[in-house]
Amino acid sequence: MAIYGLWRLPVILMVIVSLFINMLPAQIRGVLSGKSKEETALSTGTPWVDSDLKENISFFRFSSPEDDFHYYADKKLLCENRLWGYENWNIYAERVFDVEDQVMELLKNDTLKSHDAELVQKMYSLLTDWDKRNSSSMEEIKELTDKILKTKDLDELTKLLCTRQGAIWFDNFIGIYTHQGTSDSKHYAVYITPYPLRLEDSAEYAKRTEYGEMTQGYKDSVFVYAAKKLGMKEADAKKCLEQSYELEEMMAPYIPTSEEQMSADYVQKSNNEMSYSEIKKLSGDYPLTDIIDAMGYTYDGTYIVSEPEYLKQLNKIYIPENFERIRSLIYIDAVETLIEFGDRDIYEYDMDAYEKNYGYVNRLTDDEMAYYKLGDILYGPLQNLYVDEYGVEEDKRKLENICKDVIGTYRKMLDENSWASRETRDYAIKKLDSMDIRIAWPDKREDFSDLSFKGLSLIESLNAIYERDLDYDNELPGTERDPDDWGNEVNLLEVNAFYSPADNAICLPVGMMGEPFFSEKMKKEELYASIAAFWLGHEISHSFDSNGAQYDADGNLRDWWNEKDKEEFLRRIDRLSAYLDTIVPFGSYNIVGSNIDTEMAADMTGLQCALRMAEYEPDFDYDLFFRKYAELNATIMPYGSELENLLQDPHPLSYLRTNVPVQQFEEFYETYGVDKKDDMYLAPEDRLLIW
Ligand SMILES: [Zn+2]
Repeated sequence: MAIYGLWRLPVILMVIVSLFINMLPAQIRGVLSGKSKEETALSTGTPWVDSDLKENISFFRFSSPEDDFHYYADKKLLCENRLWGYENWNIYAERVFDVEDQVMELLKNDTLKSHDAELVQKMYSLLTDWDKRNSSSMEEIKELTDKILKTKDLDELTKLLCTRQGAIWFDNFIGIYTHQGTSDSKHYAVYITPYPLRLEDSAEYAKRTEYGEMTQGYKDSVFVYAAKKLGMKEADAKKCLEQSYELEEMMAPYIPTSEEQMSADYVQKSNNEMSYSEIKKLSGDYPLTDIIDAMGYTYDGTYIVSEPEYLKQLNKIYIPENFERIRSLIYIDAVETLIEFGDRDIYEYDMDAYEKNYGYVNRLTDDEMAYYKLGDILYGPLQNLYVDEYGVEEDKRKLENICKDVIGTYRKMLDENSWASRETRDYAIKKLDSMDIRIAWPDKREDFSDLSFKGLSLIESLNAIYERDLDYDNELPGTERDPDDWGNEVNLLEVNAFYSPADNAICLPVGMMGEPFFSEKMKKEELYASIAAFWLGHEISHSFDSNGAQYDADGNLRDWWNEKDKEEFLRRIDRLSAYLDTIVPFGSYNIVGSNIDTEMAADMTGLQCALRMAEYEPDFDYDLFFRKYAELNATIMPYGSELENLLQDPHPLSYLRTNVPVQQFEEFYETYGVDKKDDMYLAPEDRLLIW
């Protein structure tokens, strides 16, 4: 999938799943602000206290493996002083920092001569040249955004949206991108999805949550400040917001909530294949096909529309009576997108507003800010450069060999499964065997020699990047997918792993290939916990989970289960979900099992696979293995972030990613002598295995 304007992510269908949601840069390296919620509210929790929360971590809190294994195993690490300089931290941030340090060296090395090096070093200097940004960027932003304010009626506004520049910079109510077709994964199709709402989750428009209020407070205050800097009166900026919210209220009921998008049936529900003439008819007065033509996505193949009812609603609301509301919404979105590249004053204001609304400071050094922005907007050349300088072929082969062992064990697990029919097991094994395991970096790397920032300002350079992305993406619809092309949806410097059901491919990027996940020094037990359980085993499981199981071995959306097996599979997922529902992390919030059951099932099955591998190892040190597993989930969060994870993230809270999986396995009970009276105990009949 290529997405035009890589930083403007539309609501993306379940195209890839990851090991965890990548934290925002600011979320990783914040500075301690000393603000916190009432401790009493947070130290509640059933059956365990949420030890991701900073307030709940203390040397004086007693810990034992039988009552709270995660806290017991990670307490020392979590209490270490060095972490307390960060507001948010987790173990993979350690690797993030290492990669960042490596990249910083490349950015400042003037002996590098490749074109990729030239691009990233030039962009780095554009991002960190505050004198230049202070003197001209706000004017450039004003010039672009004033084009929206100058339109006098809906026709003029539509004309603006239907220009190439409009397509790149302005919200047009839809997300549009190319990706493999759902029923024909060999060819690219065009996807049309709703554009994300200001408060992210459409459920916020029916009932505002505490988190929604934080987001609104933060975004509104930054917008008003920015609009004033761009010459708008405060009262007009506030009116703009009001009008924009009025319009979003009309859109929200037709956009699936985060919870709906996380449910297993969403893949099928959102798969609506249509022709060009069908979408034209459906969208009526909303000029969808004019926008598609202007953006360069016209072709006579399939368009996959995730929300047809949303397009029908756009037809109803994209009318002259709503002109001012529409213009306000587009203006706000453009201002918010562009001020990320504005002057120092707005940059500082933004960070202050963040602190005020979310309750914690997030300050980055200029180098960090530039590094994370490069990772967003220019990761292709950046990862080429990184691989040239730091890629080690031998590490790649070593990891490939471990992966082969994991897959071999997984195959056995599927083969010996006790509840699925032979037919289903055989197909699952076929799917496993045809899985493409993409390790470290591709042999075929993208060539950026046609991109140059010579003589361009920061905003002009961004425009050059997005125009190139859009040109590239425009060539894809209807063409055949090159199996050696890993696509560009994944930044290989990310410390994460991905499963793409449409490719039936797992990507273990070079970004993750270092401590604490993979190194020379790690013992077998640690490698099994990291690679077999946490990393590859988890990702393979996505191929057979309630989303992945809807795709066949070739990546087509085609159900390959027989009725009976599917029923049993779903019954197991429901049981897991019901158990998760009983868990209370803090205060009056409880876990919504159906939001996280898929990721939890992947964790549990990954752990099952690693324990299976351990059976063949003499003198396997289970204590070391389980402690390493817990270490990989070590996390410190301020309340605002933990709340966001609880409400919006399909991954379970970190402490649950240790405690719930381990309590399903006899090896854990034996290693730590857990019995009935302990909080980690689950009766044998209540323990759950999906596969
Ligand atoms: Zn996952």
